[in-house]
Amino acid sequence: MFEIVVGTNNAKKLVELRLLLPEDSIRLLTLAEIPGSIDVEESGETFAENAAIKATEQAKHLGQWVLAEDSGLTVDALGGQPGVYSARYAGAHGDDEANNDKLLAELQGVPDEQRSAYFNSYLCLSDPAGKVVLESHARCAGRIAHARQGKAGFGYDPLFIIREYHRTFGDLDLTVKRAISHRSRALRKLVPQLLKLCV
Ligand code: IMP
Repeated sequence: MFEIVVGTNNAKKLVELRLLLPEDSIRLLTLAEIPGSIDVEESGETFAENAAIKATEQAKHLGQWVLAEDSGLTVDALGGQPGVYSARYAGAHGDDEANNDKLLAELQGVPDEQRSAYFNSYLCLSDPAGKVVLESHARCAGRIAHARQGKAGFGYDPLFIIREYHRTFGDLDLTVKRAISHRSRALRKLVPQLLKLCV
């Protein structure tokens, strides 16, 4: 069985990725299951750079195949912010509540038609020598709500309205997110090439 380490400590991201990969041919390992993984600094200026850094640095260190993902939210009315700083928009890395508060404050008074935004997902698979073998990216378009709605998902999900459903990812079942999210779309593009590596 082909073993891939998923280079994330975000358990919810991991669930979303795992649900889309065939269990019979790919064994996904998490960083938590691997002794001695490193904390890779996201020093790139783009999602693509950060995904590649996370995959190649961890792969070289562990001597394993590593699939990494870098994602974030691009808000048109904020000139593309928070972008690559999505996880640390309000300061502390991964403080979802503070990030959502800041986003609401920055968009105060901005009308619905100017609250368009999209999520980005960039995936990168590195071989054990640190060579990028596969890359993929996708987007998911939506609009930023005026207040949190729902508790599902993570990050900006309670503020991210999917227009077709008139509801946020926080308010929708995970099956909907699995079908249409930026991460799912990016991974679905990658799967056929990934399966070729397994044979
Ligand atoms: P990363 O772990 O450096 O890729 O940071 C991604 C950050 O972007 C997360 O901490 C969230 O704030 C945001 N983000 C990425 N994908 C999603 C998503 O599917 N829902 C909500 N927020 C997301």
